[in-house]
Amino acid sequence: MEKSSLFINGEWIINDNQTFFESINPATKEVIGSSCLATEEQVDLAVQAANNAYNEWKLTPSPTRANYLSKISSELKKRRKELAEMMTMEMGKVLKESIGEVDVILQHIEYMHGEAKRLIGEIVPSSSPNRTIQMVREPLGVVACITPWNFPVVLAAYKIFSALITGNTVVWKPASEVALSAEIFTEVIEQSGIPKGVFNLVTGSGQTVGNKLATHENVNIIAFTGSTNVGKKITEMGSNTLKRVSLELGGKNAVIVLRDANLEEAANGIIQSAFTTTGQRCTAASRIIVERSVKAKLIDLLVERTKEMNVGNGLVEESDIGPVVNESQLETIESYVHQAVQEGGKVEIGGKRGSDLEGYFYEPTIISNVKPTDTIAHEEIFGPVLAVLEVDSYEEAMKINNDTIYGLSTSIYTNSLHFANKASREAVSGLVYINSGTSNAEIGVAFGGMKMSGNGHREVSNHSFDLMTEWKSIYTNY
Ligand code: NAP
Repeated sequence: MEKSSLFINGEWIINDNQTFFESINPATKEVIGSSCLATEEQVDLAVQAANNAYNEWKLTPSPTRANYLSKISSELKKRRKELAEMMTMEMGKVLKESIGEVDVILQHIEYMHGEAKRLIGEIVPSSSPNRTIQMVREPLGVVACITPWNFPVVLAAYKIFSALITGNTVVWKPASEVALSAEIFTEVIEQSGIPKGVFNLVTGSGQTVGNKLATHENVNIIAFTGSTNVGKKITEMGSNTLKRVSLELGGKNAVIVLRDANLEEAANGIIQSAFTTTGQRCTAASRIIVERSVKAKLIDLLVERTKEMNVGNGLVEESDIGPVVNESQLETIESYVHQAVQEGGKVEIGGKRGSDLEGYFYEPTIISNVKPTDTIAHEEIFGPVLAVLEVDSYEEAMKINNDTIYGLSTSIYTNSLHFANKASREAVSGLVYINSGTSNAEIGVAFGGMKMSGNGHREVSNHSFDLMTEWKSIYTNY
């Protein structure tokens, strides 16, 4: 059985008196291994190590820093399958998705490697003769990366490589459910020979480890992805020491389908966005807002496509939808579906646990007759549940789309240039897709949400450097 440890100042730390927590395979309910519950003192050691390594790392030229990324990439290619299998075992997404996640990390490393050579400043014309003025990006210090379980490694990779390339050092706290995947990725980073203390891993609960990082006086940036509730707490905790806090939070993403849309394409895009990763994506489609005249046809297509999806353990069989991450997530989904029916919703397909399966499986579910005021029309469920709302016009659809606390991703299917353009301006979302599902982000394109889906920072592209650096202006008289 796997037993994972902490990585602090270039050393793997495991002490016999330490308490452990277990990783459980949600497809089988079997214990896969355990990880160290870091103490507050160990979190402190990790931050001190990152702080001590900072001065030298900051002065290392960014193309040299990028060389470590090349080595990380080579090592990751060797362990691609092993890491993907561990992610599937720990949080349940099907293997082809886990392999896809590792491949996106490889693409991101390649992108960041190039960006390291383009960390370009500005020369500003001076109003005085014999004077030059330069503006350069400076790192801030120690970045605490706190990440969720649904994308165990890639969401951390976005933060870690942006921080490292710009000259910051890192302490990473992954979600407890995926600590063993985090250990493999840390070994990959270690193999690059990156200097001691530049990158550190601490595992354990958000309440102890996350809390300590969020309040630590020597942490300069908190880069957080997770739920909106925890994001709010982290902002409060970081405010005492005026930390820079970036938040990538929840969503309640809608797909608007107008009557002139290609319904076959819309159904394909909706199913992919709603049920991939068992609906456990911040960008998952969870509301369909469809014009009344095409509602019945669209629902027929969605039900047909849903029937074609295999639910099962994606490690050992060819399945499209794996289990949800744990029992508590399964109960949350059940309770939302129950409430939806009580509020007048009609279950078109699904609506129950995967009864002949061992683990935490829930059938992909479509609920029609949902009203804008119903609970499932505005709360994030984070499971394979799709609510269908019907409307009489584009205007009504866009009003419902925007009438939520979230603003992450909106999609519209239409053949009208007029409505496509209107939607791209009127949707209050960080991401807008025209004739494509809600969950199709690409490397190099700014990623993030509006309203309660984030606090204005962006990652995945070089716009993340605005978080990881601050401008210094240098005046030289000659
Ligand atoms: P979560 O419960 O908010 O946890 C996220 C991370 O925060 C975990 O590492 C967790 O640690 C830690 N944490 C929990 N309480 C903390 C505290 N008091 N102080 C510091 N850290 C704390 O979220 P999740 O259930 O893992 O992930 C699902 C949520 O993430 C959904 O809302 C989803 O929409 C959102 N998400 C957003 C994006 C995006 O890019 N916008 C991407 C993916 C997911 P432990 O779990 O180990 O306790």
